[in-house]
Amino acid sequence: MSDLPLVTRFAPSPNGQLHLGHAYSAIVAHDLAREAGGQFLLRIEDIDGPRSHPELAEEFRRDLEWLGLEWDEVPAQSTRLDSYAAAARKLVEAGFLYPCDCTRREIAALPPRKDADGVEYPGSCRSTCEAKAGEGAALRLDIDRAMATVGEVVWTDAHIGSVVADPRALGDVVIVRKDLPASYNLAVTLDDAADGVTLVTRGEDLLETTHIHRILQELLELPVPQWHHHALILDDNGEKLAKRRGSPPLAARREVGEDGRALADQMRARKFDLGS
Ligand code: GLU
Repeated sequence: MSDLPLVTRFAPSPNGQLHLGHAYSAIVAHDLAREAGGQFLLRIEDIDGPRSHPELAEEFRRDLEWLGLEWDEVPAQSTRLDSYAAAARKLVEAGFLYPCDCTRREIAALPPRKDADGVEYPGSCRSTCEAKAGEGAALRLDIDRAMATVGEVVWTDAHIGSVVADPRALGDVVIVRKDLPASYNLAVTLDDAADGVTLVTRGEDLLETTHIHRILQELLELPVPQWHHHALILDDNGEKLAKRRGSPPLAARREVGEDGRALADQMRARKFDLGS
């Protein structure tokens, strides 16, 4: 670990209520920071267009308080759009992004591509799409060009150690959405840097995206944190918890008077009731 003070964060999207999986993520980030005398941040990631319900942010704060967590809140993503646009401009000017207005279905219909290392990734419309930037097109990262430019870079995870960044399996990801000046990948990378996060903690379901973030850090000359991808909380069928699969949201447990601090301790011991 570096000598920098440890700064972790919990970065929920107000697309739905928080459930136990979110609670676990927040507890892990909180405890790692506290054990190291560091700082634990809350950042509301509210740029998901119509899926985003900013009014849920207040409920999130009540949930975290109920779990017995303390945090410092940094500005929500919706207040940072200018910084995303500036970074995107920089990437466009350097030739790393290209416009694409293809639908998911059109992209899925393209033949898969194998590169020289035998890595297979979905064909992108890099050479076939005739969209123009600013005309309702998204901007995608030309990953081959990006990787050729940055060379070999590694990222370090607390559990898995050093990993060579290789995001090719994700293809030419969208960096600027059609409707917003950033995608999750660009926004989260910029925000973690701007907020001084030194240890990015999140569920292992987002591990693949870390490859992209690491490449973006090089292209945008951002500081490089370390990562801690934690195991997910699964339901009795081994499925990721989500509200739609019947896991009660934290707010519901809170409202019936369950003891949130006791639940947080049970989660720390990974011995808790999923609720019904
Ligand atoms: N906002 C993302 C989510 O709620 C998490 C982002 C992250 O931790 O990197 O899934």
